[in-house]
Amino acid sequence: MKDLHTFGWYAARISPHLPAQVFQPVPARLWGGLAYLLVSLAGILTIGLLDLHPGLNLLIALVLGLSFAGKCFLGHEILHGTVVRRPWLRDFLGAIAFFPMSTGPGLWRKWHNVTHHVHTQHDVNDPDAWSTLEQLMKRPLLSHMYRLPRFVRSTGYFSFLTINFSFVATRNFFVNLKNFEAKKRPLLWMQFLIPWGTWIGLLFMVGLEKWIFAYLIPALIANFILSAYIATNHNLNPLTAVNDPLANSLSVRVPKWVDVLHFNFSYHAEHHLFPGISPKYYPLVKEHILKMWPERYHSMSFGKAMLALWKTPRIYKTHEDLVDPIPGNLYPTIGYGLDTEHPEQVSYRAADVEAGRVEKKANAEV
Ligand SMILES: [Zn+2]
Ligand SMILES: [Zn+2]
Repeated sequence: MKDLHTFGWYAARISPHLPAQVFQPVPARLWGGLAYLLVSLAGILTIGLLDLHPGLNLLIALVLGLSFAGKCFLGHEILHGTVVRRPWLRDFLGAIAFFPMSTGPGLWRKWHNVTHHVHTQHDVNDPDAWSTLEQLMKRPLLSHMYRLPRFVRSTGYFSFLTINFSFVATRNFFVNLKNFEAKKRPLLWMQFLIPWGTWIGLLFMVGLEKWIFAYLIPALIANFILSAYIATNHNLNPLTAVNDPLANSLSVRVPKWVDVLHFNFSYHAEHHLFPGISPKYYPLVKEHILKMWPERYHSMSFGKAMLALWKTPRIYKTHEDLVDPIPGNLYPTIGYGLDTEHPEQVSYRAADVEAGRVEKKANAEV
C-alpha cells in the first residue's frame, strides 16, 4: 500500500499558494446556465409547437441532450456552494439545473457532497464505487452476467450509461429517504415528483412521437455524457482505505471547448481536493499539484479512458486490481500498472501472477 493522504492534507499544502479570490463564489457562472436554459426551452417549444421533419427534430434533440448535460455540470458546482452562498438560492438554482435528470438538491447534496466526496472509492461507503468480488458473489443474478463474453458485457455496460444517472438517482432517492428527518421528507418528495411529473405531463401534452425527441432522446444523451465522466473519474482507479484524491480520482483531458461547455468538469482530481472552490480555478490548482506531487497526479485523455473502461471489468478483486471473475484475469488500476497512455496493454492472468511468471508493475511508486 502506498502512503496515502486525505484531501485535507493536500488542500492545506496548496491553499497558502492560492490567491484569496479563489475561495469566493463565482455567480457569473450562471450566465452559462441561463444560456443552456434558454436553449432547452426553445428546443422543447420548437418540437412541441411545430411539426418538423423527424431529422430536424433529431438534430434539436441532440442539442437538447448537450444542454441538459451542461446544466447538470453547473448544477453540480452550484450545489457545492461555489456559485452562490445563500442556501435557499443555491438549492433553488440547483433544482433548476438538475431538473432534466429529475434529481432534487436535497438528495444530490446527501448522495454526492456528504457521501461520495467524504468516502470516495471506499469499498462499502461510496455509493459511486463498484463492487468487490466478495460483494458480487452475494448477488447471484449479477454474478451470472459475468459469465457473458466481455464484448457483450462491455456493450451492455456502455448501453447502460444512457440510463445510468437516472437509474442511480432514483435508486438513491429511495435508499436515502429514510436517512432524512421525517419533517424534511415532504420537501424531498416534492423535489423528486415535480420534475418527473413535468416530464410525464409533457408526454400527454405533445404526444409520444414529439416527446421522444423533446425529452427521451435528450435524457439518454445527457445520461451518457454525465455517466461517462463519472465512470472515467473513478472507475479505473483503485479502491482506497484513505480518501486520497490523487490515488482514487482521475482527471480526464478533453479539448478546451469541451471544458468550456462542461464547466471544467474534467478536472476531477482537482475537484476532490477543493470541492469548495469554483472549477474556474482548477487549472491553477493543477499547476500547484504538478509542482508539488507530479508523480502522484494522474490524467488520461477522455477517449483512452473510455477505451480502458471498455477493456476492463468493473469488479475489484483487491483494492488495486479489477478482475474478470470467470477466467480470473486481473487488470491493474491506475497507479498500480494500468498504463494511462496505452490502456490497451492492461491484461495479465491471475494464474501467472500467482505463479510469479508476471511481475505486477506499479508505474508510480510513491
Ligand atoms: Zn467524484
Ligand atoms: Zn462534487
